[in-house]
Amino acid sequence: MAGLHIVVCMKVVPKSEEVTVNAETRTLDRSRARSEFNGPDMNALEAGLQLKGAHGGRISLLSMGPPFCEPYLRLGLAMGADAAFLMSDRVFGGADTLATSYTLARGVSAIGKVAGEVDLVLCGEESSDGATGQVPPGIAEWLNVPQLTYASHLDVVARRRVLRARRELGSGFEIVEAPLPCVVSLKSGCNEPRFLDLQRWDWAMGGAPVTVWTAGDMDFDRSCLGLDGSPTIVAGVSAASAATRRRELLSGTPQQEAEKLSELLRPLLPA
Ligand SMILES: Cc1cc2nc3c(=O)[nH]c(=O)nc-3n(C[C@H](O)[C@H](O)[C@H](O)COP(=O)(O)OP(=O)(O)OC[C@H]3O[C@@H](n4cnc5c(N)ncnc54)[C@H](O)[C@@H]3O)c2cc1C
Repeated sequence: MAGLHIVVCMKVVPKSEEVTVNAETRTLDRSRARSEFNGPDMNALEAGLQLKGAHGGRISLLSMGPPFCEPYLRLGLAMGADAAFLMSDRVFGGADTLATSYTLARGVSAIGKVAGEVDLVLCGEESSDGATGQVPPGIAEWLNVPQLTYASHLDVVARRRVLRARRELGSGFEIVEAPLPCVVSLKSGCNEPRFLDLQRWDWAMGGAPVTVWTAGDMDFDRSCLGLDGSPTIVAGVSAASAATRRRELLSGTPQQEAEKLSELLRPLLPA
């Protein structure tokens, strides 16, 4: 296998600590929040860079979002990626996870056409704003390739063209394999994303290729894009009721405390 072509899906999200809630509409107000790369996507990029270091090849970054996402992709190029693709069009806006995964899957196929066959698609486990974790499996379904979710370590068995992933479980871990090409989502914090490589800085911020694709640049089923392609409906928004807590300090001998505690708990138990 002559090196891997890895696509890493990177979402630009508002910094969660700067998002506020509109008291009247109870919707999220992101207008004053600065943006950043979604944290787990940085782990996905680091995992991709480690595979590139071990097996050779190249990394293409893919994002769907407004034009202001472009400089963020350049940071990814400075970290070690080789090319970047931004899918940016008002028609893509308002997408739920079904439409987002469709659009990104079309993007992966388009990258395959212009930059060579794609062996592996890496994503973060979930975004910090939508946080559904549905997009990576969605991309795999649209591309009709296997998916491995919540991986914490990746390896490629080159002679068998197989991806081997470690998945953390509550009680241990499992090692699973899937044939390439496949889509993998990476656990948040599973590795330490590297710093920018300052030797790549001038190239990344200047001459590096960042291709911007609009809806007119490729073949889409328009009914699958943006709001039109999004069956999710927010039927209502309500504030969660604040939890009320009572506290009572028991005193006496251990025997007296135990009796008092059972007296207090008994009425709360089902009859
Ligand atoms: C508060 C809130 C609630 C929402 N609830 C829902 C809902 O219930 N149902 C629904 O369908 N949609 C929902 N959405 C919309 C959802 O955020 C968008 O559809 C979004 O584009 C993708 O979903 P996600 O952020 O949950 O992605 P996830 O599935 O959580 O993201 C996993 C990974 O997919 C990749 N990825 C996701 N989006 C992009 C992108 N634009 N560019 C590049 N890579 C990407 C990244 O690698 C990311 O780490 C909600 C959005 C918000 C802000």
